Amino acid sequence: MTIFDLVIIGAGPYGLAAAAHLRAIKGLEVRVFGQPMSFWDQNMPAGMFLRSNWTATQIADPDSALTLEAYQAAHGAKFALPVPIEHFVGYGLWYQREAVPDLDRRNVTHLEAHPKGFRLTLADGDAVLSRRVVIAAGIGAFAWRPPDFRSLPAFLTSHSSEHRDFRKFAGKRVLIVGGGQSALESGALLHEEGAGVEIVARSPRIHWLGGWASKTLHHRLGTFTRNLLYAPTDVGPAVLSQLLARPHLLRQLPRGLQDKLRKRAVRPAGARWLVDRLNHTPIKLGRSVVEVTPAAEQVKVKLDDHSERTVDHILLATGYRVDLSKYDFLAPGLVSLIDRFNGYPRLKEGLETSVPGLHILGAPAAWSFGPLMQFVSGARYASRALVRSIAGNSPRPAKNR
Ligand SMILES: Cc1cc2nc3c(=O)[nH]c(=O)nc-3n(C[C@H](O)[C@H](O)[C@H](O)COP(=O)(O)OP(=O)(O)OC[C@H]3O[C@@H](n4cnc5c(N)ncnc54)[C@H](O)[C@@H]3O)c2cc1C
Repeated sequence: MTIFDLVIIGAGPYGLAAAAHLRAIKGLEVRVFGQPMSFWDQNMPAGMFLRSNWTATQIADPDSALTLEAYQAAHGAKFALPVPIEHFVGYGLWYQREAVPDLDRRNVTHLEAHPKGFRLTLADGDAVLSRRVVIAAGIGAFAWRPPDFRSLPAFLTSHSSEHRDFRKFAGKRVLIVGGGQSALESGALLHEEGAGVEIVARSPRIHWLGGWASKTLHHRLGTFTRNLLYAPTDVGPAVLSQLLARPHLLRQLPRGLQDKLRKRAVRPAGARWLVDRLNHTPIKLGRSVVEVTPAAEQVKVKLDDHSERTVDHILLATGYRVDLSKYDFLAPGLVSLIDRFNGYPRLKEGLETSVPGLHILGAPAAWSFGPLMQFVSGARYASRALVRSIAGNSPRPAKNR
């Protein structure tokens, strides 16, 4: 059976960036498994725009050569901020062809511990061994559906991650639950596709990003001061942004403070460019759904202000909750060996779990390395940290058997 030095599970921004960086380690045989950029391509709606700024939308590579600008030049693609999702997917696929041309598109269906490291089973039944494994499998498995909605049949309710195309809702009444970017952008897109939309959010107000005050501040600050207050990673408000861009410093703070900062940095918020597009969409703030009852082909919804409405579908834009045990490819025996807190792995330097040789990148790393790990821009830090730890502790060059 083939033995690799290192296998990466997942070919999204983190898996691809990690592969590009790890290739710099001489003699290290790296293999990446998974469909490239599939979460962005299949689990986010067409017509969406990225919320992150230009620098934070770059997928890191060791030579800073695989940039959005280089992609635009190579493809004659013209786009600016906010970056349309189809261009980001195109960019990611181009990055993959350039940096990881030998990507193996098969999914990993099972990962378990093995005396030689780890054993991975692939979608077609093949199996490989690897001395190290880097899990970069994203958040798709962590879609959060509040319990109150779980009894409803799938045609009456779905999570925002289940949709790529909202056209099927034309002429239907859709209630969206949530008050963050996903809820607001889905509301705008559904309205534009001809659905009758209402948004219900628990929060008493919507936090709009990039408003007049912050724009004026940005304008007045000048580049030097702006760069002092905001890191290019574009995660978190002024000053805090600089700290969050340095996970090794953030990790030194007391746990309670780290948790507070993480919450502040990723609170639900909407991009300012959505405001006008939501002019015709009623948004009920400070309200929760208290009862849902199927009624023929529709669903009756009651809110905590006693108001009732009947809709064709409830869209849950209720986010994601990391819980490692939800990765269905992870053998339960292996999960139980990973030191965890609230579903998150406790990671050491090099984003390594308590199981030697098993690393986890992306959102599951946020408890240990901060909210930067939830965004594309965190892939540079994660990849470099991975390289540092693996290069310093390099396994024997692999011999395929
Ligand atoms: C609606 C929405 C909008 C967002 N907008 C932004 C934004 O503007 N900017 C930003 O920085 N972040 C944004 N994010 C967050 C974004 O998800 C992460 O930044 C980014 O996807 C992290 O990359 P990743 O590689 O960790 O995960 P992913 O992009 O999810 O990639 C993981 C990959 O692993 C693959 N995979 C999973 N299981 C297996 C398996 N068993 N075998 C093989 N492959 C597997 C998946 O198919 C997927 O392709 C957004 C998220 C959502 C939901």
